[in-house]
Amino acid sequence: MLPSLASSAADALAQLLFPAECLLCRALLPFDRSRDLVCPLCRHRWRPVVPPWCERCGQPEPLFGRCRVRADWPAPLQCARSAVWLDVAARRSVHALKYGGLPRIADHLAAAAARVTLPLPAGRAAALVPVPLGPRRLRARGYNQSALLAHGLGTRWGIPVAELLVRTRETATQTALTPGSRLANVAGAFEVRNAEVGTRSGSAFPLPRSTFVLVDDVFTTGATVAAAAGALEAAGARSIMAVTFGRATIPDFTS
Ligand SMILES: [Zn+2]
Ligand SMILES: [Zn+2]
Repeated sequence: MLPSLASSAADALAQLLFPAECLLCRALLPFDRSRDLVCPLCRHRWRPVVPPWCERCGQPEPLFGRCRVRADWPAPLQCARSAVWLDVAARRSVHALKYGGLPRIADHLAAAAARVTLPLPAGRAAALVPVPLGPRRLRARGYNQSALLAHGLGTRWGIPVAELLVRTRETATQTALTPGSRLANVAGAFEVRNAEVGTRSGSAFPLPRSTFVLVDDVFTTGATVAAAAGALEAAGARSIMAVTFGRATIPDFTS
């Protein structure tokens, strides 16, 4: 039997024995969508973040909490946009991507994130830069969820992915931290992997003349994208944007 036939027969058998269900609502998935993890209805329930919003941090004010721009936002970080509000359904999808070992879900998230429009300047090279994981977390998870998202976005937008950043130290997971300690947690945690990038003539992404779009799964306080943008700025980037799948719905941060 041909390998493709063998694998589709194996898929069919698996589907018969273990019918695929939506990760979120447990509805059975149609046979031809059995490799999906989230049913179309649940994806439809993700609530898009819509304008009017702050042009810089992308936070619709005032109903959804105050502007996320802080004094420590690097000047080249021009705008941050998110596709959907991180309410229960979207949060479970991100959780499945990060902690459930289900990297295939990244493509659904990327499809939603691809609806975001960024004011990319015409005629400038652009690259998608995933927010990196530390080596320990990368080994434990086996993949960087932000890199998967970036590749899904890159395919849809026709923009190359450049994994330019590294984490210089492991940081505690941001979820358990207060807004103030989130900043301290990620400050100085990123570095451009190759200091040569962009400085040589003929480089694919000249740092001063390209636009770098940071890609992450979730935007909460903006501390992570600000720290990552700071590393790009220190290496010479002059035009930085950020896109995330989810945006925290927490209406107000008090610190
Ligand atoms: Zn569902
Ligand atoms: Zn703002």
